[in-house]
Amino acid sequence: MPRFGMLIDLNTCIGCHACSVACKNEFDVPLGVFRDTVKVVEDGEYPNAGKHFIPVLCNQCEDAPCLNACPTDAITRLPNGEVVIEEGDCNLNRFCMAACPYDAIYEDPQTQTASKCTFCEHRTSKGGEPACVEACPTGCRVFGDLDDPDSKISRMASDNEIDVWKPEANTQPKVFYVDPKRALPLIAVDGVQVDQSTDLKGR
Ligand code: SF4
Ligand code: SF4
Ligand code: SF4
Repeated sequence: MPRFGMLIDLNTCIGCHACSVACKNEFDVPLGVFRDTVKVVEDGEYPNAGKHFIPVLCNQCEDAPCLNACPTDAITRLPNGEVVIEEGDCNLNRFCMAACPYDAIYEDPQTQTASKCTFCEHRTSKGGEPACVEACPTGCRVFGDLDDPDSKISRMASDNEIDVWKPEANTQPKVFYVDPKRALPLIAVDGVQVDQSTDLKGR
């Protein structure tokens, strides 16, 4: 059984939001909430200012606080490591939303349940790629088996220095970033589900 992960190369993300739109389309995600979004952060000052695009989604954590917090056992881990919410078992008590350090879970106004990225389990369990990966025009999102040393994601991970967002949360994320400009630490913790520029003076 594979152990799926995603690697996002921030060298080549152009902030086009094709991933977010594809995800919305794939799951008919309502207005105002997101499974995948692209954070925009700026740093430095003219003439050395920089702008960085950082796609964020559920990290499919190996040690997932959301899963442990759910009192109705609506959140489960599949054999391939993907963390999913069974809508039928969710009574929207929001414990998972409070527990997730990444603000990756939202309240679906249509189903009145908690919801989040599934790593496109309906596609990946059949050998396909997540909708966001398929849609990315620069190929900066790579999905695959972390336990297969010959998979593209494993090779990219070994060929590059990789980081995770908020390592101090100790959740063992399975979304990895190539982040040579050290942009990840610049993301504000709150507001992950909406696109926004982060004022570095406020961090
Ligand atoms: S990122 Fe949040 S929602 Fe996703 S597995 Fe980790 S704790 Fe759960
Ligand atoms: S893996 Fe699927 S559910 Fe997750 S962000 Fe990408 S398109 Fe959305
Ligand atoms: S589709 Fe690819 S290049 Fe565009 S914002 Fe998403 S990750 Fe970045």
